[in-house]
Amino acid sequence: MIYVDSHVHSRNSSDGRDPIAEIVREAEEKGLAYLATTDHLDLELKYGDNHSPLKWKHINLDAYYAEWQAAKAALDEKGSPLEFRFGIEAGFGENVCGRYIATLAEYPFDVVVNSVHFVGGWDVYFPHAFLFKRKAKVYGEYLDNIIKSLDAPYHYDIVAHIGYVTRNAPYRDKSLGFADFPDKFERILKGIIDRGKALEINTHTTLYPAVEIIEKYYEYGGRKISFGSDSHHAELCKDFDATAAMLREIGFTHFTVFEGGGKEKQIPIA
Ligand SMILES: [Zn+2]
Ligand SMILES: [Zn+2]
Repeated sequence: MIYVDSHVHSRNSSDGRDPIAEIVREAEEKGLAYLATTDHLDLELKYGDNHSPLKWKHINLDAYYAEWQAAKAALDEKGSPLEFRFGIEAGFGENVCGRYIATLAEYPFDVVVNSVHFVGGWDVYFPHAFLFKRKAKVYGEYLDNIIKSLDAPYHYDIVAHIGYVTRNAPYRDKSLGFADFPDKFERILKGIIDRGKALEINTHTTLYPAVEIIEKYYEYGGRKISFGSDSHHAELCKDFDATAAMLREIGFTHFTVFEGGGKEKQIPIA
């Protein structure tokens, strides 16, 4: 098995804990071939009418880049075979696209993960996002935001964790299946394919997207997938083997990893 992980958080994210050097050590111990750190850049957080019930701070990109460079230099010095890349998770917000264009241009990101976290001014991680709202409304708006995010006016490589809205949703049945919003899912999946982006297979909590949605992506001709543990603490390549087996069963033969400058590479799922 060749292990890759394209979505990982360090202490540079408000909700992350590990120094980058420790993440690299874990990657070497687990024998990863490819690792990208992708800390949170959430320009929408605390912008305009948006809210955060916690004291989450915006990332210090200079500090993040400096820490990444130091870890990369240490790897290079000892001739490590680990391919280590500099990434970012850009939390989409239609009102802050201009700020993303400017900020993303300031650093040489090898991989940009495009995520939707906000619905109606709240990160759906928090219960506030669901107050007095029906499931169909919040989930529908969440998927609409993903549709908008596909046309983000800046470069990105990966469409992250489709289904994140369900994570802390308060509904008795909080599942989000293809049949709930077939038109929206078709637009999203075909939109990813048409734009040449990669669909993220995210194992952080449960599997995102749900297997039936991954199957639809394959059926529509989607072959570009990215593996992301979305580790916030020592969980690199979580559930990798079982996930790889499920993907092979569907028909996928490789993960795509991103190397910066528009370059990408296929890693066999073997
Ligand atoms: Zn995320
Ligand atoms: Zn993440």
